[in-house]
Amino acid sequence: MIRRKLLQVSSVLMITLGTGIFAQSIQAAGADEIKVSELKPGVYLFQGAGSNVVAMTGMEGALVIDGGLPEHSEALYNAILKATGTTRINTLFNTHWHPEQLGLNQRASSDGATIIAHEQTLLYLKHKVTSTLVKGSFGPLPEKERPTKTFTKDGSLDFAGHKVEYGYLPAAHTNGDLYVYFRDLNLLVAGGAVGSDSWPLVDYRNGAFVGGVVRAHEKLATMVKADTAVIPAQGRPMTGATIVTQKDMYEKLFLDLNALMNKGMGFNDIVATNPLKGFESQYGDPSVFLDGIYRSMEMAYVPD
Ligand SMILES: [Zn+2]
Repeated sequence: MIRRKLLQVSSVLMITLGTGIFAQSIQAAGADEIKVSELKPGVYLFQGAGSNVVAMTGMEGALVIDGGLPEHSEALYNAILKATGTTRINTLFNTHWHPEQLGLNQRASSDGATIIAHEQTLLYLKHKVTSTLVKGSFGPLPEKERPTKTFTKDGSLDFAGHKVEYGYLPAAHTNGDLYVYFRDLNLLVAGGAVGSDSWPLVDYRNGAFVGGVVRAHEKLATMVKADTAVIPAQGRPMTGATIVTQKDMYEKLFLDLNALMNKGMGFNDIVATNPLKGFESQYGDPSVFLDGIYRSMEMAYVPD
């Protein structure tokens, strides 16, 4: 048990040292798989449940962003209540409709929480959906577990003395991605549209488009400062400076891909040119990402 706790703490310390932006105290969750680190006073990051999960302490329960996979929901829920010192979820955001985001919807519903998502996410959760990113099919989500509050462009709410801003990132990772921005805490929870140590996945069969990935980074780049703590849906925390660097990378990639397609190049030709070669050491093999964005361009430009 002690060894496990030490392992948990050491991995969180690596996160802390890796970014240099998280200086708060660290605690083990007591739940085997869930690692907990304090991002800001009263705001915690939970890792190991299938997606990154962020929770904020509030007087009437916790505000939570994403819920991991259902099989980790009990451990995650308990870890959240323990870390935040609360007894229930008050507000839950689903950054998009993928199963990795929805593991807490059932518990949030039982707690009487407000569940916030983009209206496209709710639309998807009402139906059976197939995706190259989901084994088999997914949904519909039981009616009582679905988002109770949706929006089309952006919105905000007051929670625990903080203004919590959220907004839509159209056609990026899915067609219903949202970010949550705690401006006064210099903290951005960016959802599935960005990747910190891997390429973001592009659900091209469900509305994702490379141009949306570019626009998402352009929008987020206008919001962040260099030292803003940025939490993607997957992977380690990153900073606002990296969002700006990635924005430049994706803008160039988009232009390059359009030029290559206009020359009549197919996917294999484009992969052979390896347009992301310079970024492989940071984000790994880009072939799955390139395949997704190439197909998204085909679907956008070549009607079938
Ligand atoms: Zn996703």
